[in-house]
Amino acid sequence: MDSARSWFKKCQQKNEKVENSPKKKREMENVKCYTHKPPIDGAVAPSTATKQKVAAAKQYIENHYKAHMKNLQDRKERRWMLERKLADADVTAEEQMNMLKFLEKKETEYMRLQRHKMGVDDFKLLTIIGRGAFGKVRLCKEKATGNVYAMKKLQKSEMLRRGQVEHVKAERNLLTEVDSECIVRLYCSFQDDEFLYLVMEYLPGGDMMTLLMRKDTLTEDEARFYVGQTVLAIESIHKHNYVHRDIKPDNLLLDHNGHMKLSDFGLCKPLDSSSFPDLREDDHVGGRNFKPSMDSGKHSNLPSTPKWTQREQLLHWQKNWRTLAYSTVGTPDYIAPEVLLKRGYGMECDWWSLGAIMFEMLVGYPPFYSEEALSTCRKIVNWRTHLKFPEEAKLSAEAKDLIKKLLCNVEQRLGTKGAHEIKARPWFKDIEWDRLYHMEAAFIPEVNSDLDTQNFEKFEELGAQVQTSRKSGPWRKVT
Ligand code: ADP
Ligand code: MG
Repeated sequence: MDSARSWFKKCQQKNEKVENSPKKKREMENVKCYTHKPPIDGAVAPSTATKQKVAAAKQYIENHYKAHMKNLQDRKERRWMLERKLADADVTAEEQMNMLKFLEKKETEYMRLQRHKMGVDDFKLLTIIGRGAFGKVRLCKEKATGNVYAMKKLQKSEMLRRGQVEHVKAERNLLTEVDSECIVRLYCSFQDDEFLYLVMEYLPGGDMMTLLMRKDTLTEDEARFYVGQTVLAIESIHKHNYVHRDIKPDNLLLDHNGHMKLSDFGLCKPLDSSSFPDLREDDHVGGRNFKPSMDSGKHSNLPSTPKWTQREQLLHWQKNWRTLAYSTVGTPDYIAPEVLLKRGYGMECDWWSLGAIMFEMLVGYPPFYSEEALSTCRKIVNWRTHLKFPEEAKLSAEAKDLIKKLLCNVEQRLGTKGAHEIKARPWFKDIEWDRLYHMEAAFIPEVNSDLDTQNFEKFEELGAQVQTSRKSGPWRKVT
């Protein structure tokens, strides 16, 4: 706002010279004839709708100039930084001149690209790498530059039907606003009559869900690396006062170094809680208030009390995860109880999801897994009875302690006062938080080219997903 004002001021000063010219004076007198008309008697005050439109236009103009001023400032800073670096470097005056000229050329190209209205025709569309609630995610190549991106295409009618437009806008805004190594970068967004497109950096390492399916379980050291990076990612969005609400393994993506980035903001499939019935804490899994047609009627062969061994439960989860993950409501496995109980929730719900993911990494399946989504929801709201650590998983006391302090009531949950509460737990004792994104990852994905999609499930162009083996993974374990 302030920068917009100062921009207007600068423009005014600049325009003063022009305004004093005889031609401009004549023009201004003409304008005055219209703008200084006395108010008409009995003129009607503008309607609320008009006022809202005026406010929106004002906001748009302010935002536009704010962004414009920021661009100019950034450009100045880039030039200043290069000048400083060149001054310290051992290069001739001619080389310095050439580098500055090169920067200016790139800046002009960048401005031109920004002015150019991007559209889907600017990209060559390649392999499908994901299929989501509102459309597909594809690998694509920008025709002008040859750069490779991931393009998420969202069907507007479906977003409207599910009342998710605001969430999608939030996703776009957040991705633009937050500049963090833990968050998937957004390059541009545009729309046509039917679709909205988000063009993001392509993370060729695949998603955490695929990694977990291939590895069964992670060691505590391996898990610490990914849980640590998830803590940093959640912290970075919370700093921008944003709650993710849909943190789960398929929204944690891996870059070519195996470092993890958070994605999929705002498209909260499971948060579409209208698709679940009203739940109460005293609802029993398979017990009363239980619609037979929705769950127990299907004779779930997974007992609600965990009589199964860890191995059996793990195999069962692996058999079913695909159906659950790609169902229209998504999987509720990582959703916090307060969200399911529709009690109002805050940032703490993301820390619950972290606890559920950590459990899954170490045990092999999510803590409240059940064959049916509704049954999982019931287990979550009754977490006190259903949170069990299988003996065979041999979790350390520190790991159990952290999971228990994440999978609990909001009031007691770690992270409520900030990420530092989690970072300080004994399980993270030896972790170097500042170096986490610069150290070697627990697994390095195999990526052979810019366009390599071997770390993703295979999808057919029309509809079905091609079945791939979960066990054969291209990941290389770092020793
Ligand atoms: P949805 O809201 O439908 O879950 P996502 O944004 O999570 O959509 O994308 C679905 C899947 O597509 C992800 O789980 C991931 O496998 C893949 N994907 C999404 N964005 C990217 C990206 N930037 N790079 C690589 N893969 C991606
Ligand atoms: Mg997703």
